[in-house]
Amino acid sequence: MSFLEVRDLSVEFTTPDGLVRAVNNVSFNMEQGETLAIVGESGSGKSQTVFALMGLLARNGTATGSVRFEGEEILNISGAALNRIRAEKIAMIFQDPMTSLNPFMRVSDQMAEVLMHHKGLSKTEAVKQSVAMLDAVKIPEAKNRVRMYPHEFSGGMRQRVMIAMSLLCQPKLLIADEPTTALDVTVQALIMKLLKEVQEEFGTSIILITHDLGVVAGNSDDTLVMYGGQVMEFAKTDDLYSRPTHPYTSGLLSAVPRLDHDEAELATIPGNPPNMMVLPKGCPFTPRCTYAVPACQEAMPTLTPVSGSPGHLRACHVAAEVVK
Ligand code: SF4
Repeated sequence: MSFLEVRDLSVEFTTPDGLVRAVNNVSFNMEQGETLAIVGESGSGKSQTVFALMGLLARNGTATGSVRFEGEEILNISGAALNRIRAEKIAMIFQDPMTSLNPFMRVSDQMAEVLMHHKGLSKTEAVKQSVAMLDAVKIPEAKNRVRMYPHEFSGGMRQRVMIAMSLLCQPKLLIADEPTTALDVTVQALIMKLLKEVQEEFGTSIILITHDLGVVAGNSDDTLVMYGGQVMEFAKTDDLYSRPTHPYTSGLLSAVPRLDHDEAELATIPGNPPNMMVLPKGCPFTPRCTYAVPACQEAMPTLTPVSGSPGHLRACHVAAEVVK
């Protein structure tokens, strides 16, 4: 039994213009204490995948398949069971902390409310634990700053507050949805370092959602690459970097700036992501893929193991050796 097992997860949205198939038969496993990065462009389905397992889909969305967390089915559960999972087992941090923090409440009140509600603590004890958690995420002078409002913190500090808040109930799994996208590069690195330290201190497993493959290097154990709502490649992050076997992963990696290369211009993947309302019957990457063969338009390739690379899976009609 894996810590997290996702099987054939699909997410659809009913819209006035038609059915949007945002996630299509996604399967993956994750082990406890690890960091899994889910990578892809906007609209690849990465965020909707985790929203489905958190029970956070918009009202017009439906999810099918199976999500087992520590052996317990959690997809489409509701009410008290869902609240228990969200409070005690899985927490989420978002790209923009201001969308999650209440601008009219002091940080102390927002954090204490979580502990009073879910852990039954007194206000005094809840504030004490909140200060300790702000200390743990390296907010200077946490004892004083806990009484501040969110707008009084810088962007990086607000993200730290958000991380502290998500850790209050000591969740086993922390989902970070583009946690550093709104921050400058230096603060990005500090937040990623902080997430690593949090993982070591609390034993938290992390799912890191990002559009930037550059962020996952050194920050994740495994990487899942999504495109058109489907899994394109899954591998140990080191293997993916040293040997990308899927044309889309290869394209994403070429777009990452590297200090050991001196290209005048960064490579880009020409074309646009697919329209999720009219997905092709074949591989959704076909119109943008320089390796495409006629079979690519006919059928979506299944995920198959890459020989010589344990645990490495890819969905492509073209041989792995051909992809550069
Ligand atoms: Fe490219 Fe075809 Fe592979 Fe899709 S299946 S990534 S179109 S070669």
